[in-house]
Amino acid sequence: MRPWILSETNYAHVKHCAYDVAVLPMGATEPHNLHLPYGTDTFEAEAISSGACQLAWQRGAKVVMLPAIPYGTETNQNQCRLSMNLNPSTLARVIQDLVESLEGHGILKLVILNSHGGNEFKPLLRELHGKTRVQLFLCDWFRGLIADVKKDIFQEADDHAGEVETSLGLACFGHLVKQHDDGTLAADDGTTRSTRFDAVNRGWVSITRPWHLLTTNTGSGNPHGATAEKGAKLMEIMVERLGGFLVDLAQSKVDERFPF
Ligand SMILES: [Zn+2]
Repeated sequence: MRPWILSETNYAHVKHCAYDVAVLPMGATEPHNLHLPYGTDTFEAEAISSGACQLAWQRGAKVVMLPAIPYGTETNQNQCRLSMNLNPSTLARVIQDLVESLEGHGILKLVILNSHGGNEFKPLLRELHGKTRVQLFLCDWFRGLIADVKKDIFQEADDHAGEVETSLGLACFGHLVKQHDDGTLAADDGTTRSTRFDAVNRGWVSITRPWHLLTTNTGSGNPHGATAEKGAKLMEIMVERLGGFLVDLAQSKVDERFPF
């Protein structure tokens, strides 16, 4: 039993444990090129969250990882077979209800660890601000958490199911990464199409990209340079950074100037 993972622990432990911080891993159910499992985002969110919570727990912080939400927003992947969608407003309701539960149980710090680009929670943080006593923190790990180290570890920019995610897959759930007999990935090159608008292609104007038109087999980014070593290195950095933050957060008193 790992006492920092709620689904593994029991009431005998929980009823006497004054948890300070909860972590909610947010995943998705969608294809990831031809070689990664549909649960990729959820598995990543769980691996990062459980690693960070373990590190924090071992440093004395009372943190608890809630069960991951395995669905995310997939409206732009609706043509990709068995992408399972929850609309942004539905997801927001789910999180809002869980925040209310935490507040009722006296856990007033929540970190949302999001693993899926289609899940955007900043508007929810703004909406709940001032309406709950729970202090909300958001980590989209594929953005700020790794931005400064990505170039040192990986050759290719990764958008979806490319070198970064495939490396994490090989490191954390390698038995589910489809490979040929010679050890090469059973994946295409993850090339993407440009839209007809220069302004969109340059990022001056943004859209939600219809994934079946953007990609060939849902991959965006070349996965073939991926290795388990790269994935393990990235995981170690993320766990150290996020785990350290959880320790700081657990120790921090929520006063009128929080978080300043
Ligand atoms: Zn993904």
